[in-house]
Amino acid sequence: MIIKELKILKQHGIQYVPDLKEAVLTPLFRGRPLIKEDPADPEIEKIIKLCPSDAIVTEGGFGIDIGKCVFCKECALSCPDKIDFTNDYKISTNDKNNLIVRKGDTEIKFSETSVRPEIRKLFKNALKLRQVSAGGDNSCEFELNAAGNVNFDMGRYGIEFVASPRHADGIVITGPITENMSEALQICWDATPGPKIIILVGTDAISGGMFAKSPAVNRKFLEKYPVDLYVPGNPAHPLTFINGLLRLLGK
Ligand code: SF4
Repeated sequence: MIIKELKILKQHGIQYVPDLKEAVLTPLFRGRPLIKEDPADPEIEKIIKLCPSDAIVTEGGFGIDIGKCVFCKECALSCPDKIDFTNDYKISTNDKNNLIVRKGDTEIKFSETSVRPEIRKLFKNALKLRQVSAGGDNSCEFELNAAGNVNFDMGRYGIEFVASPRHADGIVITGPITENMSEALQICWDATPGPKIIILVGTDAISGGMFAKSPAVNRKFLEKYPVDLYVPGNPAHPLTFINGLLRLLGK
């Protein structure tokens, strides 16, 4: 009997990712943009028209806001010698300004001094989170599920999702926050005991994405409370989520 199981194990190989901080994704993965050269004015105009989610920044020089970007790669296809997308998945940050990528940027910065001291003091070894899909399309939700599976196993760091906000240390929001979900989100937040954290996962949650101007979206909740972590992606990759949390927790 055991021989059969050993054979199956050998066939499957090692499924878990041994080191989540050093894992390398396929070059096809669209992570941090790389701006090799600033596009010329006519090229910028063309890219702005192509971009479906207003992610192109022109104030203070050319840039791409990965909090708005849906990673369609249209800008890179339009200017292949100037814009590219790397497979760098470590793109989570706690400062919204750091989400704007400009020429010469080789990483997404994280502001250590902005981390609230109670986060590391209380949650470093065990962090329980409640997920709220606020009008999400199930893509980021799928990836968050995957963060706890046998491959990524974020539970190894004491991080897991719980069924009730009353058992949670914070909430993870996906989706653009629709009017229909705004009250449920507020109830969930109120039910979470303090001190508590807010994490936005995916382009839709961070900026509204392609639905930002929809009348069905109501993002007033985010005007009331500080956000502790932005996890970009469309959808966000489990490694982006886990590495962002490790940065936030100082692990
Ligand atoms: S990859 Fe991002 S910045 Fe480029 S066109 Fe698509 S949404 Fe806009």
